[in-house]
Amino acid sequence: MYPSVLLDWCKLANKVLAKSNVAQRLEALAVQIHACTRCPLHASRTLAVPGDGKATAKVMIIGEAPGREEDESGHPFVGAAGRFLNQALAGSGLSREDLFITNVVKCRPPSNRTPRRDEIDTCTTHYLFAQIALLNPSLIMLLGGVAAKKLLGISRIAEVRGRLIERDGRRYLVGYHPAVKFYRADLGEKVAEDFVTLTREMKKLLRA
Ligand code: URA
Repeated sequence: MYPSVLLDWCKLANKVLAKSNVAQRLEALAVQIHACTRCPLHASRTLAVPGDGKATAKVMIIGEAPGREEDESGHPFVGAAGRFLNQALAGSGLSREDLFITNVVKCRPPSNRTPRRDEIDTCTTHYLFAQIALLNPSLIMLLGGVAAKKLLGISRIAEVRGRLIERDGRRYLVGYHPAVKFYRADLGEKVAEDFVTLTREMKKLLRA
């Protein structure tokens, strides 16, 4: 019989090893994404944007696609929508460090057009679904119609926002994309509310 302290230590060591394995596999995916030429978006990108965050993040945020500043920097949500995300998190006691942030497609569509079906299917099949499987997050927040449609088949965000959705063993929140407030001022308040819902659910998770 082993002493329980030794068994606890072994469990902890196994967890740490498993997470460092996840970090390496996420990094290997990022390397593939940077070199990807599987869809037409590669031709016009400056940098692909695999996503940012730790392998230990319990919450994943999935947006639509990189914009201009993301394409130039290689990091997600660093432009206007990202500044709004930071603002929404400020004062909540949570930070981007608690999140893994990525997009449905990893390369900027020309002139920020909506990504096309084949681009979405290619990128999710090869990269996004693998990222989700590796991270195995406790909560996924889908920002905007493209992510909600692809991951949950939902077309009407208004009908599902504000509550947890359980699907195939995963928990989701759906919210308006932060950029919506730049062309629909009336939705700005709703975007803020979606982040209040997110921070409330994250706090519950981080306490658990
Ligand atoms: N909008 C997105 O959906 N993703 C980003 O990374 C930036 C803006």
